[in-house]
Amino acid sequence: MTTAPLLDIKDLNVTYGTGAAAVRGVDLTLAAGQKLGIAGESGCGKSTLALALLRLLPAGAKLSGEILLDGEDVLTMKWGRLRAVRWAGASIVFQGAMHSLNAVRRIGDQIAEPMLIHRTAPPSGVRKKVAVLLEHVGLPASRADSYPHELSGGQRQRVMIAMALACDPKLIVADEPTTALDVMIQAQILRLIEQLVAEQNVGLIMISHDLAVLADTCDRLAVMYAGRVVEQGPAAQVYESALHPYAKALSAAFPRIGDPASRHAPRGLAGDPPDPSDLPPGCTFHPRCPVALDRCAVEDQALRGEEERRAACVHV
Ligand code: ADP
Ligand code: MG
Repeated sequence: MTTAPLLDIKDLNVTYGTGAAAVRGVDLTLAAGQKLGIAGESGCGKSTLALALLRLLPAGAKLSGEILLDGEDVLTMKWGRLRAVRWAGASIVFQGAMHSLNAVRRIGDQIAEPMLIHRTAPPSGVRKKVAVLLEHVGLPASRADSYPHELSGGQRQRVMIAMALACDPKLIVADEPTTALDVMIQAQILRLIEQLVAEQNVGLIMISHDLAVLADTCDRLAVMYAGRVVEQGPAAQVYESALHPYAKALSAAFPRIGDPASRHAPRGLAGDPPDPSDLPPGCTFHPRCPVALDRCAVEDQALRGEEERRAACVHV
């Protein structure tokens, strides 16, 4: 008998009010304590997927499918329930901590806020919990009195992680948590996230354009292209012997963890992902694909293979 997964995403579709079909038919599952990496170039729908998990998308975005968090569908939750689930059930660490933190409030108060809203710590105990959280993420407790501009980029990202952990969520989604940081700090923050996730047995979804970073951190990988998962499987297998030509190109583009030369433009892959308002027919990757056949321009490809290891390519 298997226990229900912590997160079970079924046939998720997200279309923005602009008509951009940013996420298309995504199925993903995550067990408690498991770490799933989501890779793909900028514009492939990774952040849209992350935002959809807590219904944080802008008004006008249309969602369909199911997002079962501990068996409960986030997409049909009433507002009160959704508010309870945000922070306490699942929380998101975004890329640019400077934009996510309030510039005019002390960071201790900002870390305290979700705990006060969710009453996960008594008001008298919140300051203590803030100090514990700060120490947990490697910052001195005295930092609670600082304002965001008094911290470095890496320290601010640590504060974001402390906030994300404040209400003991079962799931943490980290969307490019280290992309804005330099390589040394990037490695420290990744180790910190790994360590915290292991200690607290929370599920982690880590999003990055850098497949090497994900392969090093996660148990499983899903590679997204033009709003779809085009390959998924155990992290080492996807990184070292990708099946889909797009996944192959991504892993060739990021040969080493945190390689600064390959952080932005994946080497060896010309062009850009398609505009989600104007997707090419057939396999959406075919215009860039080095091994495309004539039929790829007309035939859409679904994921195939075994449950554990699947790819959406005519060559698989
Ligand atoms: P990624 O995180 O992989 O870079 P995103 O999810 O941010 O990708 O974006 C996927 C697609 O959705 C992009 O084409 C982007 O332009 C579009 N998009 C993102 N946010 C919005 C929005 N608020 N309104 C309309 N389109 C959007
Ligand atoms: Mg993004």
